[in-house]
Amino acid sequence: IEFEDMYIRRELLMGIFEAGFEKPSPIQEEAIPIALTKRDVLARAKNGTGKTAAFVIPSLQQIDVNKHKIQALILVPTRELALQTSQVCKVLGKHMGVQVMVTTGGTTLKDDILRLSEVVHVLVATPGRVLDLAGKGVADLSECPVFVMDEADKLLSPEFTPVIEQLLGYLPKDRQVMLFSATFPMIVKDFKEKHMSSPYEINL
Ligand code: AMP
Repeated sequence: IEFEDMYIRRELLMGIFEAGFEKPSPIQEEAIPIALTKRDVLARAKNGTGKTAAFVIPSLQQIDVNKHKIQALILVPTRELALQTSQVCKVLGKHMGVQVMVTTGGTTLKDDILRLSEVVHVLVATPGRVLDLAGKGVADLSECPVFVMDEADKLLSPEFTPVIEQLLGYLPKDRQVMLFSATFPMIVKDFKEKHMSSPYEINL
C-alpha cells in the first residue's frame, strides 16, 4: 500500500512527499489505515522505524484547522523528544496551516499561558506540565479527539502514571488512544486494560 491509497488529504500528502517519504515504512503501512478509522492502536515500535509519522499522520488527518481547539495531544517522556516530534508535525503539516505547540517542564509557565491564548491544534507535551495547564483551565482538552503516548514504557513510570490518568479526565470519553512503546512491561499492559478499548495491536 502507498500513501496515495490511504485516503490522506491532499495538503497532508504534500507534506509527506516534501519530507522525502516515498513509501510508508512497515509500521506506517500497518498503523496509519487503522488509526484513520479512529480505532485505538497499540504498537510495539523501536526508534528508527518511522513510528513518529505513524502517529503524526493520522493525528493531523483528523484536525480541522478552522476549529481553534487542541485536537491532538501527544505525550512524550522528554523535552528533547517533544521538540523532535513537534518538528515532524510541523514538516508534515506544513501545507495544512496547523499550529503546533510544545510544552514541557523547565520553561516558564507564563510563556505557555500566553501561547495558549492563541490558536493551538496539536500539543506535544510532557505529562506534568500539561496536567498543570489543564488543571488551571488554560489548556482546553475537552474537544481533543486524539491522545498519543510515545515511548509509553518510559512515560508510564510509577510517578507519571497517576499524572497521565488524571490528564485523561480532561479529555473526552470517546477519544482515540494511540500508544507506542519499545517494550510492554506490566504497567503498560495495565494501562491498556484500563484506558484503551479493543486496540488494534501491532508487533513488528
Ligand atoms: P522515527 O522512527 O519516527 O524516529 O523515524 C526515523 C527516521 O525515518 C526519521 O529520520 C524519519 O524522517 C524517517 N522516515 C520516517 N518515515 C519514513 C518514510 N516513510 N520514508 C522515508 N523516511 C522515513
